[in-house]
Amino acid sequence: MTQDDAAATSPVVGIDLGTTNSVVAGWVDGKVQVFAEDGTALVPSVVGIAPDGRLLVGQAAMNQLVAFPERTIASVKRRMGQAEMLTLADRTHTPQEVSAIILRTLKERAERALGCPVTRAVITVPAFFDELQRSATREAGELAGLTVERIINEPTAASLVYHAGSDERRQIMVYDLGGGTFDVSIVRSEGGVVEVLASKGDTSLGGDDFDAQLARHVADQFLEQHGVDLMDDSRTRWRLLTACERAKRELSTATTARIAEEFIATVGEREVSLDVEIDRHDYEKLIADLVDQTVSCADDALRDSGLTLAQIDELILVGGSTRTPLVQERLRAEYAREPQWSVDPDVAVALGAATQAASIAGRQVGPVLVDVATHTLGVAAVEGEGYFDEELVFVPILRRNSPLPARYEDDFSTRHDGQEKVQICIYQGESPTLDENIELGEFFLEGLNASDGCDGRIVVRFELSVDGTLAVTAIERRTGISRKLAINNALSEMKRQSKTTAAERLADLEGFATTEIVEIEEAEVPPNATRQQKTVSRAQQMLPTLGEEDAADVQRLLTQIDEAKASGDTAALDGVVAELDDLLFYIAG
Ligand code: ADP
Ligand code: MG
Repeated sequence: MTQDDAAATSPVVGIDLGTTNSVVAGWVDGKVQVFAEDGTALVPSVVGIAPDGRLLVGQAAMNQLVAFPERTIASVKRRMGQAEMLTLADRTHTPQEVSAIILRTLKERAERALGCPVTRAVITVPAFFDELQRSATREAGELAGLTVERIINEPTAASLVYHAGSDERRQIMVYDLGGGTFDVSIVRSEGGVVEVLASKGDTSLGGDDFDAQLARHVADQFLEQHGVDLMDDSRTRWRLLTACERAKRELSTATTARIAEEFIATVGEREVSLDVEIDRHDYEKLIADLVDQTVSCADDALRDSGLTLAQIDELILVGGSTRTPLVQERLRAEYAREPQWSVDPDVAVALGAATQAASIAGRQVGPVLVDVATHTLGVAAVEGEGYFDEELVFVPILRRNSPLPARYEDDFSTRHDGQEKVQICIYQGESPTLDENIELGEFFLEGLNASDGCDGRIVVRFELSVDGTLAVTAIERRTGISRKLAINNALSEMKRQSKTTAAERLADLEGFATTEIVEIEEAEVPPNATRQQKTVSRAQQMLPTLGEEDAADVQRLLTQIDEAKASGDTAALDGVVAELDDLLFYIAG
């Protein structure tokens, strides 16, 4: 067996990298299963360093959260994509590095369960994650020693578990309320294909906010009684939040819950304890606005999907916070349907990711996933005639919800005769106002044919692949001069510089092995190898769905790839892979 064959048959696991809890699942005994240890599949997404310097992950880290908040990081997912360093005891780490530590733990758990090395994964993210956040997630996977085969949306993954392999047409609303994020998607499952029609969400809304509302309420009462704000001191605040989280879960089944914490504050000379009883009704008043926000988000998604409520066959609940009775009641009232959660809402996403992973590994599991662009992408352009009238506006090129892979282009003109270069500034967002969107990158197209007129000279093409890589190409129509920028690469330019430091920082962390990190760096050297693997596996995945003519073309290129590989002709190999890539693109489009 060659190394490539080994890679192609090695297992691919599905990972739900959650804000609160993470779960890893894979293909065992002919079906997808979660890898549980100590009776639970949930690994709290918490990383800590014990006072003796040991690295703690999951429940062990969670256990020291209250005692050593400065030695512990929770909810790191909320920081993904931000250029900030997080403090962990006397060290600092990027959000990616902290997530990598969690992913490494999940990878090892899968390896124990499967009894073999695991190097490939499908990782889920909230549908609302932007390119930076997705790219940070991908980087975290790489730092953990995983080839990230696909980043897929969490609600998409959940719908896959419910409808893998079913031929019947179902239109589904997937409502996912976790600890830190909310996501809602409208998906259509038909003939073994799951298509996302619309996705909406809020990356900072979840059960954590329920805890915070309750904690604020309890702290206010305490403040009034004792003149001390329990939220002021970080250790006390964590204690209170933890107690409130526990009470909140109790309120999902009981109508009252008690929050009792001994000696929580010093008032004057006295140690005062906290002991309050919370009524479910009062708790629901505290979170009603937050629940309303999720419903209005779901309404938006429904509107975006172009479907009416009557056309929705099913409402699927995902995420631990959907166990909240008020959430279920509001949804039942709003959408006149019985919400479903026959698959455990805590693990549905991981099982879905594993379903997609299994299909990438070549298992016959049913659906081919059609994902959509989660944001509108476009460029900045000058609008208006004359100097005083000029204004920079956002011109969308690739619209949100376009099925992936997507390729769109638009024509632009230079501003004046004799202009020799143009600047292409790439933005992502939904606002017509440029400044309200996020800038992703920029480049210049130079050496333009200055003698040419202004009109329709520059074509700007956006290509977004299924794994979320954006390529922007600017071409001068007359001369064919062109320049291309791959946004993931643009982001990883920053990343590459920081990657060695990231690996170094992780390497000297006790309990995070050095050797494997070196392997990751080596494995990353030939970027075309992964591209080739990806293209080939996508082609193989698509083959059974193609018409005779397309299938023959794809097969011919696959054979040429094998030949080029056998003869060691890398230039020819790159050429054929690119040709296959293009072909798949046109077929899929
Ligand atoms: P994430 O996707 O953010 O990792 P999860 O889907 O694991 O989150 O959900 C975690 C959230 O679910 C936490 O806020 C937790 O408090 C909440 N949760 C778990 N069980 C219950 C319950 N029985 N009732 C209400 N909330 C719950
Ligand atoms: Mg989740």
